[in-house]
Order: sequence, then structure tokens, then C-alpha cells
Amino acid sequence: MLDKVVIANRGEIALRILRACKELDIKTVAIHSTADRDLMHVRLADEAVCIGPAPSPQSYLNVPSIISAAEVTDAVGIHPGYGFLAENADFAEQVERSGFTFIGPKAETIRLMGDKVSAIEAMKKAGVPTVPGSDGALSDDSDEIRAIAKRIGYPVIIKAAAGGGGRGMRVVHSEASLINSIHVTQSEAAAAFGDDTVYMEKFLENPRHVEVQVLADGQGNAIHLYDRDCSMQRRHQKVVEEAPAPHLDQDARAQVLQACVDACIEIGYRGAGTFEFLYENGGFYFIEMNTRVQVEHPVTEMITGVDIVKEQLRIASGLPLSLKQEDIKVQGHSFECRINAEDPKTFLPSPGTIKHFHAPGGNGIRVDSHLYNGYTVPPHYDSLIAKLISYGEDREIAMRRMNIALDEMLVDGIRSNIPLQQDIMNDAKFQEGGVNIHYLEKKLGL
Ligand code: ADP
Repeated sequence: MLDKVVIANRGEIALRILRACKELDIKTVAIHSTADRDLMHVRLADEAVCIGPAPSPQSYLNVPSIISAAEVTDAVGIHPGYGFLAENADFAEQVERSGFTFIGPKAETIRLMGDKVSAIEAMKKAGVPTVPGSDGALSDDSDEIRAIAKRIGYPVIIKAAAGGGGRGMRVVHSEASLINSIHVTQSEAAAAFGDDTVYMEKFLENPRHVEVQVLADGQGNAIHLYDRDCSMQRRHQKVVEEAPAPHLDQDARAQVLQACVDACIEIGYRGAGTFEFLYENGGFYFIEMNTRVQVEHPVTEMITGVDIVKEQLRIASGLPLSLKQEDIKVQGHSFECRINAEDPKTFLPSPGTIKHFHAPGGNGIRVDSHLYNGYTVPPHYDSLIAKLISYGEDREIAMRRMNIALDEMLVDGIRSNIPLQQDIMNDAKFQEGGVNIHYLEKKLGL
């Protein structure tokens, strides 16, 4: 087992990683910016190193500082969490080149999946269903491009190969605006990502977001931990997640789960990962793979009993997967509400000091949060302050428990989106299950 790990992240996920390390008797090093001295996990870690000022480019994205912190503390591994450097292939490479273990996939896998054109190609080869599209990057030949769009059928979406975070995409409804839209997307992509490669996909009008969690050891073993539904989104940001995804076509589901496992073996995947799909009319369409632990991983932990972060640490220690596919059974249902420090109506960030924090509890309730009374939420980072997770023997019980917990939860001193989460939990269509990715924005009148 790894002896000492640097937690290269902050907030709730840093605390989550710290707890998993403690369970496995791994020593921990917290790294933090000057704005984050008072973070919960900084106090709980065996050692803490300040790596720079508040702005993340100078701290949580500062690769030399992070590697130096590992060096001075004699750590052996670096866990990137999610966000920041978690999907940065150059970082993974530098970590390994400096003699440390990157707790994640190989740099080359991150690179393969970070380029959407190469990711889709790899998935196709492995038998994962993809969105009908251009089969690779678009050329400069306008006639050829028009022919591709005609074959796919409008509307189509032009996407940057290097795109991310919902940026670098443009929907095209008819041939009249096709070529111009491609040029605009290309120049935006060049400016934002330094790469103007674009490709084309059929634009699915009312899909759901369904994703598959996998674990693989890079030694020829891979399993899936079933699916999650994350369709409740605003501006491509997930707001509520649940597992398993409700009302799926069971044959299509079984096929796609197997295809994800096959793909892991095919690409030599190592660690925890997520295959993201759009799901429409009973069909799955791969859009991208996330090569890291995700915010919403707890809902999968609740229904399978597998600790995904501990598995990441075991895999990074070189151990073969101890779990077999037949060991993984789905039991019950789980929801996660992301609690953000933001105005529930305007969505403006609401940093500040927490006067009083009360975490809900009871049967089937889990709270992953770094908050405590008197903690000040800094203005520099993501507004996620807590993940409220519920479990029930079935979907209805999990939902009731979530409602009760939202009522009990108290975050005093700043604004939070708890009222929005209560609205969602009491929404009749959401209660039925299976709403599409546009549902929340429509409900909010956006
Ligand atoms: P990013 O890496 O920026 O998150 P994705 O490829 O995951 O990009 O797409 C982000 C979102 O854009 C999806 O969750 C979905 O809402 C929308 N989207 C992407 N591709 C399509 C498509 N072919 N049809 C409809 N919506 C799409």
C-alpha cells in the first residue's frame, strides 16, 4: 500500500480522500493556498504545506509547487481529486517522471480521452455506442462537410476536439449556417484550447445524461458499478444525481455496461473512471470519458457498497482488483443534492462566514462536507460546500429521506441553494423519474 499521499485538492473531496487514506493507514499531506489554511482536511492531515496564494493558477494548478510539496514531505503518491489538475495529462506525466505515483490512469490514457476525436474513435473500436457523426475531425472541404451533415440529418452539433466544461460547441439547424458555424467554432476553439480541430455529431434534442462508473486495475481486470442519472443540470452543471438511473431499457443497459468494461480492457484503463452517455429513445450515445473520481461518486457507493476512493488507492498501490463483477449488486436507490454557496434564485456566488452549520442525519443520510461553524467560504473557488446524499430501499424512500434532510440542514450566514433542491425534490416530473437534460432550465424559466 502507498505509504504517504499528497492530496492535491481542496474542499469536500480533499476531506473525502483524507478519510479513505486514514482507513487504509496511509499518511496524508494536505496542500493548500493561503486562502485555505482553515480547511477542515488541512487540520486533520498528518502534514500540511502551503503551496501558494489564493488564485488557483498559483496554487492548486501550480505543478512545480505541488511536486515540491511531495518531495519535501517524502510522499509517494499524489491524488488529484476532481477538477484542477485531475485530467491534465502533462501533470500526470510530470508526477510519474518525478518518481511519484499518480493516483489515476496513465498519462497516455488521459491524453487519449482528453481529445474527443481520439476518445470517440477508441470507443467505437471497443464497441461502445457513439453519436452518429463525422467519424473524426472535419476537413476544410465544404462540399464534404455539407454531405456529412446531410447524411447525419439536421440539427447537428459542431464540437471542439479539445473542448471541455460545456464550451466549444455550436448547434446548427440548417445548411444555410453550417459552414459559418464551423468557422466560428474553429476560431473559438483555437482561442480557448489552442487547437482548432472540430468534429460533427447529430444533435440529440431531448436526451437524458446517463453515465457508467468503472474500476480497472490496468492488469487486465475491469468491472462496472452500474449507472447514474445526472440529467438535472443548469448550464451543463449537474445539480442532482441519482443511482441507479431510473426507467432504462434493460437490454440496452446490459449491453452498454458490458461495452464499458470491454473498453477499459481494450485501452488498458487503470483506476476509477466514468463513461458519459446521452440516452434517448432507449439508446445510449457515448459523449466523453472522465478519467478521475467524480463529484457524484457517492450515489454509486451507496447502492453498491464499494468505496471508490479506497479502490483508487488500492489500484494505485499496484494491487489487482479484489472485486469481481458478480460481487457487485445494486441494492436500493440513492440521490445526491449538490449544496452550493449561491443565491437559490440568481445563482450568484455567496461566499462568507458560516455562522451556524447543522448537518442532517438519520438512517440513510450521508453528508460529505468540509463546513463547520465559523468557517469562511473563500470567494476564489467552486461554490460546492456540501453534498447531501440519501439512501433508501427504493427510490421513493430515498427521496423522502432527502426531503427530510433538506429540511433539517442549516447553513446560516451565507445563501445556499437548499430552497432550489427542495423545489426539485417536490417536482412531480422529477418524482416520476427520467426527465431530460433541459428539464431544470425550462422549469427555472431559463
Ligand atoms: P464537455 O466536455 O464540455 O462537458 P460534452 O461532450 O460532455 O462536453 O457535452 C456537454 C453537454 O453538451 C452534454 O452534457 C449535452 O448536454 C450537450 N451535448 C453534447 N453533445 C451533444 C449532442 N450530440 N446532442 C445533444 N446535446 C449534446
